[in-house]
Amino acid sequence: MVLLGPPGAGKGTQARMLREVANVPQVASGDLLRAAVRTKTPLGVAAAGYMDRGDLVPDELVLNLIEERLNAPDAQAGFILDGFPRSVKQAEALRAILVRSRGAGLDRVIALTVPDEEIVRRISGRRTCRKCGAMYHVTFEPPRVNGVCDKCGGELYQREDDSEETVRNRLKIYDSTTRPLLDYYGKSGILALIDGTGKPEQVESRVQTALAGILPLPPRKKVQKPSVRPAGK
Ligand code: ADP
Ligand code: ADP
Ligand code: ZN
Repeated sequence: MVLLGPPGAGKGTQARMLREVANVPQVASGDLLRAAVRTKTPLGVAAAGYMDRGDLVPDELVLNLIEERLNAPDAQAGFILDGFPRSVKQAEALRAILVRSRGAGLDRVIALTVPDEEIVRRISGRRTCRKCGAMYHVTFEPPRVNGVCDKCGGELYQREDDSEETVRNRLKIYDSTTRPLLDYYGKSGILALIDGTGKPEQVESRVQTALAGILPLPPRKKVQKPSVRPAGK
């Protein structure tokens, strides 16, 4: 499946929650690219400038990275793509990759919708763990100890491309280049538009509802129902 949405919509947060229940990996193009930049691979060196400006990294750099990741053994039973595809061209390339490697297409595309002013609030308070990638928000999802990851004790940092100017550029590119994917996937009948506002757990339950029949999800928490059995049996 694919998680779509503007920067800061909560794709990463939802993907990380979902991978636990779905037991398939999150494949986040942004995380893969940041890892390449950090370790200074040739691809990372070539991609860094685009990312700093909030521009899309050219397809010839991104597509191989994604194809390689999707062909890894742990992604054979399924995957949650987060941040890819970001253009109709990438969506078509993804289709070709999936047909080539497994003769099947996507099951579902979940598009998270969040109003612009909420996006800005979310991105400006975003903090990420350097070690495990967990996401926090200084106001909405604060860590127990300021600057320290609850899960692994790693250091929390603010992404450099989360500055106001870069975010504005990323939102513009989302509108011009990524938003057309809503039409593209809408036509194929696999798109679900999900309200991304409210607590992460509320969004998660909407997403799970939209994935009914696709994910081997555990039963939802049971509502206490009156017993239909006669007393004494
Ligand atoms: P966010 O989650 O805030 O939308 P990401 O972590 O997905 O941000 O992406 C960060 C940056 O990495 C993007 O601004 C872009 O430069 C680059 N990037 C990520 N995914 C792609 C992609 N599919 N195609 C091109 N560039 C990408
Ligand atoms: P994306 O991957 O789409 O760029 P993230 O998952 O990184 O978005 O979320 C952006 C910021 O918003 C993070 O700081 C995250 O903790 C916070 N966030 C995510 N979901 C919610 C939510 N439902 N309510 C409030 N804040 C949220
Ligand atoms: Zn951590």
